[in-house]
Amino acid sequence: MTQQPTSRLAPSPTGALHLGNARTFLVNWAMARQRGWRLHMRIEDLDGPRIKAGAAAHMIDTLRWLGLDWDGNELVQSDDLTPYTDALRKLCSDGSTFRCELSRTAISNAASAPQEGAHETAFAPTLRPNDAGEPFAFDDAKANIRFLVPEGTVSINDGFCGSSEHDVAAVPGDFVIWTRRGTPAYQLAVVVDDARQGVTDVVRGDDLLPSAARQLLLARSLDLPAQNWWHLPLVLGEDGHRLAKRHGDTRIATYRELGVRPQRLLGLLAMWCGLTDQLEELTITEVLDQFDLDQMPRGPITLTRKDDQWLRSE
Ligand code: GLU
Repeated sequence: MTQQPTSRLAPSPTGALHLGNARTFLVNWAMARQRGWRLHMRIEDLDGPRIKAGAAAHMIDTLRWLGLDWDGNELVQSDDLTPYTDALRKLCSDGSTFRCELSRTAISNAASAPQEGAHETAFAPTLRPNDAGEPFAFDDAKANIRFLVPEGTVSINDGFCGSSEHDVAAVPGDFVIWTRRGTPAYQLAVVVDDARQGVTDVVRGDDLLPSAARQLLLARSLDLPAQNWWHLPLVLGEDGHRLAKRHGDTRIATYRELGVRPQRLLGLLAMWCGLTDQLEELTITEVLDQFDLDQMPRGPITLTRKDDQWLRSE
């Protein structure tokens, strides 16, 4: 029996859904529904300090209000850490990891030169402890554990943005997969969850393209299947920077409170997907009927003042 293609919506409840992530979720949903994929909802709530109480329920409500749906119950990562601990145990006993208690400052001092445009500090191989890569039994849930990144580049073939090569060993180098808070880091959690949810197709923002290479390395070490990737350009503000608070309040819930209806918001999101060339209202059914991945603009999208005014003028 061949497995049904499967995807997932994986919000992090660190704030409210805004126009940028709503567009990515809409594309993911439309691809899944047009292509007969199963679509899961996964709440990625392991990044302790950044998680906001109530944000997950709020996001779910907002996505439903827009007209999106998914199959089965929501998986909440923090409900059960066992699958991540099991994966970590395997990596530790395979000799793919090491414990690391170095401070951020020690790591950045050892970095050869600041990586241009990189937000993260590369972990220099000289910082590896002597026992790095020696198998050990993971027993201390409150330790920082890094993945020993193999040399060589990793190729990612992306269904939307094409092929790219990633030198994970250089940037970010050995990355953290378990934190001293006693929780898996994002990269490990995603790999474990995509495998146990049978995810074959990952659709998300292209800020996560470098993460695909890290996730592929982890999946290989855990003998898990790789996914097909579809990384979409982000929505930017008029200043060319990724949509953020400084661009004004673009939360879907705020427009909703102002009385803006879903079809107006969907109209803007649909224009950003190349369905229309001007602002016009569209229902969720019309979006689904007209959606065509080949029509999607390949570059970043800009939220203009005119777009925002059109939404608010309802
Ligand atoms: N939870 C992540 C985010 O909201 C997405 C992770 C993923 O799609 O792999 O940015």
